[in-house]
Amino acid sequence: MPSYFLAGSNAVWFYEHKTMIIKILQNALLAGVILLTNMMALSCSTAPENFNQQELSLIHEADSIMRVLTIDNPEDSAVLRAKSSDLSADALRSDDYKRLAELMLATVTHPSQDGVGIAAPQVGINRRVVAVQRFDKEEVLPDGSEGCPFEVYPNIRIVSKSEKLESGPEGCLSVPDRNGEVLRSREIVIEYADVNRLDEEDCMVRETVYGFTAVIFQHEVDHLDGVLYIDRLR
Ligand SMILES: [Zn+2]
Repeated sequence: MPSYFLAGSNAVWFYEHKTMIIKILQNALLAGVILLTNMMALSCSTAPENFNQQELSLIHEADSIMRVLTIDNPEDSAVLRAKSSDLSADALRSDDYKRLAELMLATVTHPSQDGVGIAAPQVGINRRVVAVQRFDKEEVLPDGSEGCPFEVYPNIRIVSKSEKLESGPEGCLSVPDRNGEVLRSREIVIEYADVNRLDEEDCMVRETVYGFTAVIFQHEVDHLDGVLYIDRLR
């Protein structure tokens, strides 16, 4: 078969299917634009999830503090060992989130706990939220005294860790009456959602943290992956 005939036959085929081909290309382009728009809209939060009914009940039924789950209770242990997920930007704007943050702070600072950090799974909420005492900061606290503030970090991840490790003693509100030596990175980079910039295209913040505060962040973010410090004992 002469080659010009093939070329001619292809040209006829393209002409006959031109409308269909253009439509396919247009749809592919549209799908690409929609995907890109969704990725931009989700940059603040990778999951479109709000609190579920069980979580809302826990948050709103709590009095002044929440019950801290412990590994000696099988039901608690299942929650502590589960992986936590992100909250949507809408969930982070809600009064439910504000109340959870306040309750976590009240719980970790309560004399019965007296901790330096707490993660949401420890109060029964499998969401990526932690409260950490910032020993690298000093400011005037709500009671008027100077001290190291507690701060709450939603949708948090550790994006890099130094290879340089240091060993230090750790305990956990969910592992009563125990402590042990754990190796942790001296320096880490954390990434979390800034609740004051949720309307911006990218509201994620990156911050480098060092020393003991970095140890607390590593311990608390471990909780969000179902990992306890006792898994890392030397
Ligand atoms: Zn802990």
